[in-house]
Amino acid sequence: MAMTDTRQNGRAALLSRRAVLGGTLTAILMSQRVAAACSPSPLGTARTLAVGTAGGLFTGLKTYPRTLPLGPREVILSFDDGPASTTPAVLDALACEGVKATFFMIGRNVAANPALARRVREQGHTVASHSWSHPWTFRQLSVEAGRADIARGFAILNETVFGLPGSSPPPVPFFRYPGFADTAPLNEWLAAQNIGVFGCDLWASDWNPMSADAQLKLVMERLEKAGRGHILFHDTRAQTAAMLPDFLRELKRRDYRVVNIVPGPGKAETIPAPAGWTSETEAIIAGKRG
Ligand SMILES: [Zn+2]
Repeated sequence: MAMTDTRQNGRAALLSRRAVLGGTLTAILMSQRVAAACSPSPLGTARTLAVGTAGGLFTGLKTYPRTLPLGPREVILSFDDGPASTTPAVLDALACEGVKATFFMIGRNVAANPALARRVREQGHTVASHSWSHPWTFRQLSVEAGRADIARGFAILNETVFGLPGSSPPPVPFFRYPGFADTAPLNEWLAAQNIGVFGCDLWASDWNPMSADAQLKLVMERLEKAGRGHILFHDTRAQTAAMLPDFLRELKRRDYRVVNIVPGPGKAETIPAPAGWTSETEAIIAGKRG
């Protein structure tokens, strides 16, 4: 029952920016639009990239001077902070276009929405960890408290999504720090467990409230400028769920290709940042602290 409610809420969010009519007519139009969202020639997932994390991995140009080896007009899509009531709409949009993505989940949201967390995996997406409690920031915690929060985040995924004992090595050893605020001791600890740290190459800034149309325009402008990259969204944001069908169609129209990242053996190949690289996230984290 809760699952059905969540799905309905998600579909409503997907359509909310267009649904201005009332009563039965709205319901009919909404169902037509859900059907229309499934393209006869879907975008699809162009390839799967196995990402090895042996000895650790630090990737994503916003934070680290290395990134995954994407070709021109290749993108990786990732969604942070769920699962939440808006996640089903995101899943529906991805399913309509045959697109696989990575979901960096907050552990306590997994505990609150276990069936939804499992659905993400069942639909073929990569389920990764974004900590247990999403502390802002790990830099404010002791190393012990930081380790405990990260370990608990992986443990709930093991137990809820993967059917493993909590303390097992994570089957998807991919981690993203809340706010990209890493610390040297935690990085070292994660690397020793062969867990990779994922930043991103560009983001949608969907933490800022804006219309779905403004959100689409912003992320397409950034993508056109970058030409490729690992893009960060939040499946907890209604504006992101609402614009996603249009975004995926736009990717297809402009000949972008989606790359799905999955765990792989050994150590991933990465490519260095362009000359003159600096971390954008350090400045943001420092600003927020001040
Ligand atoms: Zn987050």
